[in-house]
Amino acid sequence: DFPTCASDYYQLDDLLTPEEKAIRMKVRECMEKEVAPIMTKYWEKAEFPFEVIPKLGALHISGGSIKGYGCPGLSITGSAVALAELARVDASCSTFILVHSSLAMLTIALCGSEMQKQKYLPSLAELSTVACWGLTEPDYGSDASALRTTARKVEGGWILDGQKRWIGNSTFADVLVIFARNTATNQINGFIVKKDAPGLQATKIENKIGLRMVQNGDILLKNVFVPDEDRLPGVSSFQDTSKVLAVSRVMVSWQPIGIAMGVYDMCHRYLKERKQFGAPLAAFQINQQKLVQMLGNIQAMLLVGWRLCKLYESGKMTPGQASLGKSWISLRARETVSFGRELLGGNGILADFLVAKAFCDLEPIYTYEGTYDINTLVTGREITGLPSFKPAT
Ligand code: FAD
Repeated sequence: DFPTCASDYYQLDDLLTPEEKAIRMKVRECMEKEVAPIMTKYWEKAEFPFEVIPKLGALHISGGSIKGYGCPGLSITGSAVALAELARVDASCSTFILVHSSLAMLTIALCGSEMQKQKYLPSLAELSTVACWGLTEPDYGSDASALRTTARKVEGGWILDGQKRWIGNSTFADVLVIFARNTATNQINGFIVKKDAPGLQATKIENKIGLRMVQNGDILLKNVFVPDEDRLPGVSSFQDTSKVLAVSRVMVSWQPIGIAMGVYDMCHRYLKERKQFGAPLAAFQINQQKLVQMLGNIQAMLLVGWRLCKLYESGKMTPGQASLGKSWISLRARETVSFGRELLGGNGILADFLVAKAFCDLEPIYTYEGTYDINTLVTGREITGLPSFKPAT
């Protein structure tokens, strides 16, 4: 039988297929039994838990909805639910898989040649190799389409020069998907760069307050040679990265859902156990109100997330809808998790109680894959037909 959790108040499970429920249960069990006991230690040290990689590999979720090449071929909903279940216990593990699978592998699957798919996807699917996805640069974050890393054609391949910033998994990734500007066409192209390529260097970004286990790096590309066979033929302009981002934004939307569910479940238990003024904390009206607001938010977030998956699966989802899902769900999760932080009192600022950690982990999620503002502007452009990314002159 599938174990229910208090946060699934409207029984979203009824909307999932038996396969999707099975994925949820498999991931939940692994995370609760094997990952939860060790995550705080790694989070505090800001180290990546390499011992978890084989356990995540055995779940067979890497590659998500990609079909063939050793990938699981899950439904979009199943893939999203898996990311939520990872995030419910540990958002860093969820982001590790998101970057590896929903960004890097998906780019290779959507934009790669048949040979590239056969060469790279099977080992990435079993997590015996790890990938990262490099779009952002030190001076081009929200304005990523203006990126400056260059790709210059030479005999037999390309020379990449430039810098990337914030790239998750990059300090140890075997395969780096890198976007660069083709000096001949001035358009954005995509490349698969291997870890040991001469001229490539990745340095860990220290002192993050959230997703501390995820190893984000500054990448330096100095005269890096990439053979012709490793240029992604399906990326000929920035529009092609946007296609990947639209799908991955559906996936990212489920991370705040998972985080908020984990926090609610923790608070629900805590408030019934801890007593003040001779009564459980759950007996006080103000605390009940906060719990109910959290629960209401979560039901709405779940339904928006689920509908987004269905729109995508039926081929009807627009980029604006994906952006609204990502921005709105992250905003509601921020409110939900901040109620949770209050409800735990002093323990709400200790990483040991999950909530403080979740509170911090949500911040980078609110910002990456397009900030709240940028995703709002994507939806705004779609519903009005008027882009407002640049200041009026
Ligand atoms: P800026 O673009 O400098 O924005 C600063 C502020 O200005 C924000 O509030 C923003 O909303 C606002 N703003 C900017 N432009 C506008 C505008 N036109 N209108 C209104 N407001 C605006 N990138 C990758 O390529 N790969 C990764 O794996 C990756 N992982 C990440 C992991 C973490 C932990 C973090 C923090 C970031 C990661 N990123 C990654 C980068 C991420 O996508 C960027 O941080 C994000 O796009 C925002 O860019 P920025 O940080 O340069 O902020």
